[in-house]
Amino acid sequence: MDFDISDEQQAMVAGVRDVLRGRFSPSHFRELEDNSEWPWEAMQALGDHGYLSILAPEELGGAGGSSLDAMLCLEEAARVMGGPAMAYFTTMCFGVRTLAELGTPLQQERILPGLMAGTSFVGLSLTEPDGGTDVLGAMRTRAKQDADGSWVINGAKIFTTGAHIADYVIAVVRTDNFEKRGSYGVTMFLVPTDAPGLTITQIPLFAQRTTGANNVVFDDVRVPEEMVLGEVHKGLYSLFNVLNDERIGAATMALGIAQAAFDEALEYAKTRTAFNRPIGQFQAVQHKLAEIWVRLQAVRQTVYRAAWLQSEGKPAEMESSGAKLLASETCIWVVNECMDILGGYSHTLEFNMSYYLRDGRYTFAPVTNNAVKNLIGERLGLPKSY
Ligand SMILES: Cc1cc2nc3c(=O)[nH]c(=O)nc-3n(C[C@H](O)[C@H](O)[C@H](O)COP(=O)(O)OP(=O)(O)OC[C@H]3O[C@@H](n4cnc5c(N)ncnc54)[C@H](O)[C@@H]3O)c2cc1C
Repeated sequence: MDFDISDEQQAMVAGVRDVLRGRFSPSHFRELEDNSEWPWEAMQALGDHGYLSILAPEELGGAGGSSLDAMLCLEEAARVMGGPAMAYFTTMCFGVRTLAELGTPLQQERILPGLMAGTSFVGLSLTEPDGGTDVLGAMRTRAKQDADGSWVINGAKIFTTGAHIADYVIAVVRTDNFEKRGSYGVTMFLVPTDAPGLTITQIPLFAQRTTGANNVVFDDVRVPEEMVLGEVHKGLYSLFNVLNDERIGAATMALGIAQAAFDEALEYAKTRTAFNRPIGQFQAVQHKLAEIWVRLQAVRQTVYRAAWLQSEGKPAEMESSGAKLLASETCIWVVNECMDILGGYSHTLEFNMSYYLRDGRYTFAPVTNNAVKNLIGERLGLPKSY
């Protein structure tokens, strides 16, 4: 068993840190969050240095890296950027990876270069208004094929990250098996966001405002046959593997944000004084920090192991789901503890805690923690509860 991060991986992480810390002031990402602005400059800087294309193979212009490489870089990005690192997460773990794995040469040629350069974005329109957990039961959006081969989509999606700035959304819609809730009969379409009949409206959010969330309504949206992504009627099966990376990615985001909160609280404990001594000298504060450090180590090992399994092509469903559960719950706990260490100053905008409090909540996405527990329970051989 080798727990070491290789020299190459350490150099990649240092590279991400240099790009983000070297080019952008600490307030830059908070301003984007305040103004609900996509981090285009940071994305392009990451793209220029090859950090968006880690999960694409070399023959497609990517770095041919592993899931673990990607997660190490994402952890560092979340530590520096906080919530806005969601743009990096979704572009790298979803957009680039999905196109590289499932796209046709034509789709890859059209879409991948912009994604890998950080100049464009592809959103995932899966969740529907009637339910994100019961994703198949709630799926009302449908597509029917015309005689000329093109598909016509009708329906509505909700909460699509980044659709308002995207060039395409991947619409996951029912194309067969209409009366049943089975996985068969679902197809993915690459829909240009300027397609006639497509309406995108932003949902006002209190958190994750940099990347946003959108209602996406399809009113007779016509998509040519060449924009089917993956196999017709079998889209959901292809999506499952990509979703493992999404779970590990959400876990990694939570880990990076929790680490950032810890960094801030540790520094504060060393410099803030009370009763003529640094507050970090009080056991109540010191023990909090020690316990946070220990729990962060546990989360990190769990997340890295899930990413390693995924990198090796080994089954990672339980581990990636478990990592997401553990990291998201721990992040909330860590931020809460760190806020206590900062006392009243945790509520001021002089510090970043209020951003970590808002943006470090990964309990609901890409799947809820209840759904994660259901999955793990079932894989343990317990009866399905729903
Ligand atoms: C900021 C943001 C960005 C998002 N980005 C995207 C995106 O890019 N693309 C996309 O497709 N979606 C996206 N989502 C949607 C997200 O994936 C869903 O919100 C999530 O899957 C939960 O669905 P829901 O909100 O409909 O909750 P529901 O499914 O209605 O669940 C509500 C509650 O009931 C519980 N529950 C439901 N069923 C069960 C069960 N069987 N057992 C136990 N408990 C259960 C849930 O755990 C939860 O606590 C985003 C959401 C947000 C807020």
